[in-house]
Amino acid sequence: MQHYRDDFPILGREVYHRPLVYLDNAATTQKPRCVVEAMTAQYYETNANVHRGVHFLSQRATDLHEGAREAVRRFINARSTAEIVFTRGTTESLNLVASSFGEGFLKAGDEVILSTMEHHSNIVPWQLLRERKGIVLKVIPMDDRGVLDLDAYRALFTDRTRLVSCCHVSNVLGTINPVAEMARIAHDAGAYFLVDGAQSVPHFPVDVQALNCDFLVFSGHKIYGPTGIGVLYGKEALLDKMPPYQGGGEMIARVTFERTTYERLPFKFEAGTPDYVGTHGLAAALDYVSAIGMERIAAHEDDLTRHCMERLSCEIEGIRLFGEAPAKTSVVAFNVGHLHPMDLGTLLDRLGIAIRTGHHCAQPLMARCGVEGMARASFALYNTREEVDTFVDALRRVVRMF
Ligand code: PLP
Repeated sequence: MQHYRDDFPILGREVYHRPLVYLDNAATTQKPRCVVEAMTAQYYETNANVHRGVHFLSQRATDLHEGAREAVRRFINARSTAEIVFTRGTTESLNLVASSFGEGFLKAGDEVILSTMEHHSNIVPWQLLRERKGIVLKVIPMDDRGVLDLDAYRALFTDRTRLVSCCHVSNVLGTINPVAEMARIAHDAGAYFLVDGAQSVPHFPVDVQALNCDFLVFSGHKIYGPTGIGVLYGKEALLDKMPPYQGGGEMIARVTFERTTYERLPFKFEAGTPDYVGTHGLAAALDYVSAIGMERIAAHEDDLTRHCMERLSCEIEGIRLFGEAPAKTSVVAFNVGHLHPMDLGTLLDRLGIAIRTGHHCAQPLMARCGVEGMARASFALYNTREEVDTFVDALRRVVRMF
């Protein structure tokens, strides 16, 4: 994968006179030239607002925007582009579902199941809904390796359970949850299943029909695409029954002061001018990773993850690794003795190595692990074994300083 590094100009830069080693990919990935160039070209050559425009540029921009929707459909194997809603990112997609599904499908006393390892963006929207509607939230426990307890999960269902909303891959532990099996259990109990794919879609092939999930959400910026664009996939029949999320232009069929009717899917959920340059950039990113091959990316990142875990556990005295599930990818979270993760991150930064420290927007998971924060290295297709070695060697050096 080494030669793909040349596609990412930022990887050639230095930080504090040292070559940049970028290991903060779970937060956001770097962008290949083709994504930036596609967006620049659109601004320079094809910029016009989309939909309804009769002029050349508007029609061309609309073609690119709707072409991007088809690229997303193909990438996650949805049945129809009607099932692909563009949002600002995973967070907005989750808020859309909590708000609209919550409005249309949930009453006081209805239950939504989450897991211990959710990102705040898959917790707080449901808590806001709980405040508005009096729904009940239940949480799937996990063991010390970071594996969800499926027996406990099965036992959470009652005749009031309406939805399970769970991450496919934990942004802290890297655990790959068995979401296809979990969706089957939810469906057997008469509940819907949402997959937070923010940390899975960028790392291995995800097929919504194979998973048979009802919703899937992800962010463009974590899969080499631009910031500010994301996706909500929803089964057409379900989206069709859900009320609009926001009102405005684009999402209406006809407006009078007495009554408004709504556009067909997916436009019903896309009020206002969409980020049509962002969707074009996202399509370029999806084309880019598809040309490399998601299976190849997965195998490479798996190798980096195993190599990193092995070296850390053998060579760093006092290390505690978080997340040792058998099915795991691309994320290695750790603490060393009583050293503050922020100190580790700051000192590694001076050596050119970018990792993330803190609670990783998963404070309930931090509480489960009995810590305030962790350090986290996370990998992307352009990282190398040499970079992992540089990171582990630097960590040894930093730890010796204390
Ligand atoms: N869900 C998971 C599992 C994540 O890792 C993240 C971001 O780190 C999010 C949701 C939120 O994504 P965004 O900030 O792009 O909306």
